[in-house]
Amino acid sequence: MSQSEFEVTNPATGDVIAHVPDQGRADARQAIERANAAFASWSTTTAYQRAAILRRAWQLMQERKQDLANLMTREQGKPLKTAAIEVQYGADFLLWFSEEAKRQYGETIPSARADQRFIVQHHPVGVVAAITPWNYPVSMITRKIAPALAAGCTVVLKPAEATPLCAVEIFKIMQEAGMPDGVLNLITASNPVPIGEEFCTNPLVRKITFTGSTAVGRKLSADAAPHLKRVSMELGGHAPFIVFADADPVHAAKGAALIKFLNTGQACICPNRIYVHRSIEKAFLKTFTERVERLAVGNGLDDGINIGPLVNRAAVEKVSRQVEDARSKGAEVLCGGGELEGKGRGGHFYLPTVLSNVSPDMIIYREETFGPVAAVVPFDDNDDIVSMANDTNYGLAAYVYTRDLSTAMRTFEQLQFGIVGINDINPTSAAAPFGGMKDSGLGREGAREGLNEYLETKLGGFSI
Ligand code: NAP
Repeated sequence: MSQSEFEVTNPATGDVIAHVPDQGRADARQAIERANAAFASWSTTTAYQRAAILRRAWQLMQERKQDLANLMTREQGKPLKTAAIEVQYGADFLLWFSEEAKRQYGETIPSARADQRFIVQHHPVGVVAAITPWNYPVSMITRKIAPALAAGCTVVLKPAEATPLCAVEIFKIMQEAGMPDGVLNLITASNPVPIGEEFCTNPLVRKITFTGSTAVGRKLSADAAPHLKRVSMELGGHAPFIVFADADPVHAAKGAALIKFLNTGQACICPNRIYVHRSIEKAFLKTFTERVERLAVGNGLDDGINIGPLVNRAAVEKVSRQVEDARSKGAEVLCGGGELEGKGRGGHFYLPTVLSNVSPDMIIYREETFGPVAAVVPFDDNDDIVSMANDTNYGLAAYVYTRDLSTAMRTFEQLQFGIVGINDINPTSAAAPFGGMKDSGLGREGAREGLNEYLETKLGGFSI
């Protein structure tokens, strides 16, 4: 087993806050073997036994909400209050799937033959290998392990290098809740490549579930394909946010300011192109810019902070490059537009920024931003707006503001996105299917569909 360690740093200060084991391919292989050994007994426990453990984990996570939130803020940077909301969201998956575990219903199907009966059952797929990102270091983990465990699968999880500490705490909770040895296995690593290779090629792994960038998701899918492993891919996004002429511009601007700057803009469902009808653009921009200017940037542990640091220096550079490119091509910077001076030293802070007059020739119009920069694009013709919104390789989240029911329904049906918020900036819940179309991925998490991702369908044909 590997003996070395890697550092975990606080992105608000640059301070090293912990060290965790730096594991490699051999560790991943052993973890897969442990998960495989545990599969026979875990998969034959009753759904009621699995549900009881998940429910206890839900209770423990709620009791430790503040401690987990504090750890998340130090490790990932988001303000304490939003970290606590994420812990609750993460815990919700444990409760939801503890309940869904008991609803793996099969069916009987009438046969054309009098002497034949068809019965369909659902069985766990086997060992699951999971890889998660740093932006939601609790909920991206529970959104995978809760349904996998509920289904009767065993799991090996590799969390992001930047946020292994939340994963360690979740595993402690699961163990205290009564998870048997070998069912849930953690691999922390500074180099994800050999771990991903082992996950994709080891014949004992039957399913890969990944949340992260489209580039890495594509590579993992390609590596898993020759081995015919099932894959679920929750990937990047480039969300349109459409404000029609009949919408209330103030209400829409308040919603846009909340969802755009969620998690410092580091969420896959953050709007990337905010299309506002030209007739209400001025009113929209006034409220929007006022709201954004009021956002307080700093260390998420301090009172009153709304915007934490970006994850690392490369993220600041990516955002700066997008803003400079847009500015050079005619966008106007209404607020922000640079790094935080002075108190941001040591951390990776970028000021909340509003760009107006953004156009399709700018990098920000196509590339995922993953930072606190809002790109506002005026539009004139309602007939063009859906094709403009769909003009992206991504298809995760989209938002629509209108007071007209027909416009709402038509736009909802025509948008090529897996999640559409209609006058709603928070269309997410453990009970609702989350996932994307096109380059945003394959499969859904949460909801009943989230459980199906971990189940095989088995048909029994009985001749009687
Ligand atoms: P990323 O670079 O793809 O990393 C995600 C995870 O994959 C991390 O654990 C990472 O490990 C690992 N990884 C990287 N390269 C790998 C490889 N070659 N083989 C195996 N594993 C590998 O993505 P990110 O920058 O951390 O996360 C941001 C992206 O995630 C954005 O595009 C965002 O839209 C997307 N996201 C999507 C959803 C969704 O539900 N659709 C939710 C959240 C985020 P290391 O940390 O060690 O690099």
